[in-house]
Amino acid sequence: MTHELVTWLVGVLDRIEQQAPEVHAASCPAVDSSGMLYAVSLDACSCGWPQRIRTDIAAKRNILGLVVDSGPGWHDGYTEAYRDVVRLLAAPFAAEPGYRAEWGPQ
Ligand SMILES: [Zn+2]
Repeated sequence: MTHELVTWLVGVLDRIEQQAPEVHAASCPAVDSSGMLYAVSLDACSCGWPQRIRTDIAAKRNILGLVVDSGPGWHDGYTEAYRDVVRLLAAPFAAEPGYRAEWGPQ
């Protein structure tokens, strides 16, 4: 169960990371008054949201890497704790396609 959840969550994080350059605060000079992104010139960005998103995703990937490295078949408190962590990391994305109700936090 955890391996499938990790695989699914990595896919979600990949999609979010691809969109990161397009996410800015409304007041950022990289967007116009209608909120549309100016022609991909991140040099104008002063809000830092794209980098913050990438940093957050990198941290989540590091956590997920620890889960994968523990390998299937481990049944100790450490693995159980990581299973709970993965469920909590996935919960904000429950509306994404492919999420299973059984993956919800317990
Ligand atoms: Zn910005």
